[in-house]
Amino acid sequence: MKFYSTNNSTLRISLREAVLHGQPADGGLYMPERIPVLPQDFLRSLPTLSFSEIGFEVAHALLGDDLSNAELHDLTEHTLTFPAPVVEVDPGLHSLELFHGPTLAFKDFGARFLAWLVGYFARQERREMTILVATSGDTGGAVAQAFFQIPGTRVVVLYPRGRVSLLQEKQFGTLGANITALEVDGSFDDCQRLVKQAFADTQLRQEVFLTSANSINIARLIPQMFYYFWGYAQVQEQKQPVVFSVPSGNFGNLTAGLMAQRMGLPVHHFLAATNTNDVVPEYLRTGSFSPRASKATISNAMDVGNPSNFARMLALFNQDHANMAQYMTGYRFTDEQTRSALRDVYSRTGYVLDPHGAIGYLAALDYQSKNKNCVSVFLETAHPAKFREVVELEIGSEIAVPERLSDYQFIEKKSTAIGNSLNHLREFVR
Ligand SMILES: *Cc1c(COP(=O)(O)O)cnc(C)c1O
Repeated sequence: MKFYSTNNSTLRISLREAVLHGQPADGGLYMPERIPVLPQDFLRSLPTLSFSEIGFEVAHALLGDDLSNAELHDLTEHTLTFPAPVVEVDPGLHSLELFHGPTLAFKDFGARFLAWLVGYFARQERREMTILVATSGDTGGAVAQAFFQIPGTRVVVLYPRGRVSLLQEKQFGTLGANITALEVDGSFDDCQRLVKQAFADTQLRQEVFLTSANSINIARLIPQMFYYFWGYAQVQEQKQPVVFSVPSGNFGNLTAGLMAQRMGLPVHHFLAATNTNDVVPEYLRTGSFSPRASKATISNAMDVGNPSNFARMLALFNQDHANMAQYMTGYRFTDEQTRSALRDVYSRTGYVLDPHGAIGYLAALDYQSKNKNCVSVFLETAHPAKFREVVELEIGSEIAVPERLSDYQFIEKKSTAIGNSLNHLREFVR
């Protein structure tokens, strides 16, 4: 597969380049030059296939020219080490639980797929690759856990001292081996600046192969297609149109859903659900896109004022607003509505939502009330234990914390403190 840039449709680059560079120099985003359509036989047989069999077929259609079948198997096995159960919350309204991975959020899928690929290129080139990542909390954990013990890779996580939660710090700061956590004397912006400066340092880049694990990397999007096929397979025996409701921030998940649809998955409609950071729902309604500063909400992983994957969505619809608006409906919910969904669903059904999934749930509920023949699936993007303070307050009871999280209290962090200048980082990375 070759990739083009959303800012240059004639560019063609390799998988290696797309994965290791992350973003084209022209500021666009990489997209596959064509989206293959899967055979009808495969689509019909979906309900009989396992999650990893589905992952393999989807990955094979996209990357079959780049990787052997054995490599593709290994890649999907490494990515799908945890399940994604579908749970019916209300009649015909299902939760697709994407939070059973090591850091309890859907981002584990993308991070694990990317980690395998970077390890693959490191082996091929017999060169160690250093992944530099600045984190305000969650990304560092997902990336560190995904790259842990992958030969040929080394991860350096930069995080602001005292500004991430203890649990988050432990998810990337206790691993050791090829994972180093640097506790920076500064803010998240300082961490991001240091990473940028390191990438701009040509001498350092001659000595060390630097790569990023940024969320806009196309390798993080591909495995997110897998769970649309899987989720669809779990509800399709009802023979009704299937709607996916996607709680969104940077719109990576929604873009992956649109790509799955292009590959032949018969999704009836998408719901683009946001908190009050509603740039995309507004665009769907009015045709005008006005990015702005983000506002803080309780679904904070979706507090995005200028969604990066919007360029990919536009590319998929040839920059045509009316075309895009046929395929999806935008929804926007306030914190108050989100809180009341947490309470309502728990008291009626006993199901515990997290604040992000709750927004997907609300959109699905509204759509279904107006389109009664549909079944819907909302993406439950994080485990409620990740947002314990908010959720427990609303449901009035304690959430069971998964063992792999509660165990962290017994492990000491192994972070190294550094100052906030490039010299400190450079010394360390060398
Ligand atoms: C990142 C994140 C989202 C937003 O996903 P996008 O692909 O950026 O739209 C939603 N929920 C949770 C829990 C997240 O971590």
